[in-house]
Amino acid sequence: MKKDIIIAKQCGLQRAFFWYLVAVMAAGLLVVALSFILPDSWKEEVSCFGMSRHQVAVNVMIASIMVIVFGGVFIIGRRYDLKCPKCGRSIQGGFYSGLAITTGKCGHCGETIVEE
Ligand SMILES: [Zn+2]
Repeated sequence: MKKDIIIAKQCGLQRAFFWYLVAVMAAGLLVVALSFILPDSWKEEVSCFGMSRHQVAVNVMIASIMVIVFGGVFIIGRRYDLKCPKCGRSIQGGFYSGLAITTGKCGHCGETIVEE
């Protein structure tokens, strides 16, 4: 594995994670804003499970954010993950990527994984 690839993947991961956090915060703010915009008549109107239509709408929006949160982690993890060719464990995240870049070794098994 080349050092350049590990560095590029690490930079891509950080960039993707930044935009992921921006998207989650924007979605959260959108839910708060929409909960104020929803018509007041929805608060009295009982829809299902004894909840008002307003509560149902807010819960659906919160569930949508959960999909963004977990889906984003899954997609970013899949796209930017790097596995050690010797032990097969992830060398991305935590101190593992930094260790691989500086020492050329896997943080799990200690094998040399970076070729010059
Ligand atoms: Zn390893």
